[in-house]
Amino acid sequence: MKLLKTEISEVSEDRKRITGFVEYNDGYIDEYWYEYPAHFDITDSGNPWLAALLPMAATINEDLEISLPIDQRLLDGANDIMRFWHSWDKSTYIVKINAENIANVGDNISKDAASFFSSGVDAFYTAYNKPRANYKILIHGFDLSINKETEFETHLKRISDVVKNLGEELVFVKTNIRHTRWKQTRWQAISHGAALASIGLLFEKHFSEIFIPSSMGDYSDLYCWGSHPLTDPLYSTSKTNIITDGDGLSRLDKIKFLADYDYALKHLHVCIRGKDGTGQDEVNCSHCEKCYRTMIALELANCLEKCDLFDVDKYNYEEIPYMFVTDAFTAPEYHEMAEEALMQNKLELASAIYKAIRRSKLIIRLGFLKKVPFLWYIPHKMMENSIY
Ligand SMILES: [Zn+2]
Repeated sequence: MKLLKTEISEVSEDRKRITGFVEYNDGYIDEYWYEYPAHFDITDSGNPWLAALLPMAATINEDLEISLPIDQRLLDGANDIMRFWHSWDKSTYIVKINAENIANVGDNISKDAASFFSSGVDAFYTAYNKPRANYKILIHGFDLSINKETEFETHLKRISDVVKNLGEELVFVKTNIRHTRWKQTRWQAISHGAALASIGLLFEKHFSEIFIPSSMGDYSDLYCWGSHPLTDPLYSTSKTNIITDGDGLSRLDKIKFLADYDYALKHLHVCIRGKDGTGQDEVNCSHCEKCYRTMIALELANCLEKCDLFDVDKYNYEEIPYMFVTDAFTAPEYHEMAEEALMQNKLELASAIYKAIRRSKLIIRLGFLKKVPFLWYIPHKMMENSIY
């Protein structure tokens, strides 16, 4: 696959779009675009394109050709990243990167720093932990489809107000990357961090540091994950460092940290489901698994009542056992919260969390019975009753 060329066009008075034309080995040409605030002088290097296209090349096993200047440090990092991916996921390939135009590009003299921001737990933690990152990058096209304009407008307005009140500048970027062939890359396991890095590196002339709020809490089991403390920093160039922030801290640790920041609590928004299940709203639905997991941690940090965007009336211990605790990512969080509840002598809460863990394990085991005629409905019915 090959980056043929890039073009910058005007979207509106204050927005521009850069489009990369990418040709695959079968001759098909995809247009990857990013829209950004027009007053930023974005890079003309190949760095953001190398970050963006790397997971695609590694997924479809096509060598990657980019003629725009590529930073040597990033090129070295990209080769290392593919080896990490391949060691975690044997279905990815280590391909050749044909980038002959090597230079220490991105001649930024700025000392400014930015962090990605969504107003969730990880983002608010980094906002207060790294106050020098006074630009906040918000993305439309990752969690919420670019077709959901109305839903995103609400989200954008709320986050614009939050960033303004923090005295910082919002950098709003919209991208169609998940609407191109690139969507076949494994978002959660491989490509999330690459997409973040590609957006960060578009602004390499402006930022010497770009922080990615980490979602990886436990260092004892560094599983394959799209935005990863081992791979994200490898997207750095000689002039712009990509840095994960908050690694090794659990969600509960971060919420305990945020308990001292009333503004963060008041505006904490974690829900991607929305009130009607279609997307992001101005409030948290206070019913989905992520909302409940967050509300339990907020209770344990003794600050749930300060979180205006949660409906505390919907929070009760009877619901907790019906949560479905499934993956390597969330299960350790529930175990940690159950232990914390025991330490705080909140026995009813601890018991409810352990019930959720046990019940989820049972459902996963019973899931195998789906293959057995007439028994399939047992797990199916149990699954239907789960909060998700
Ligand atoms: Zn929710």
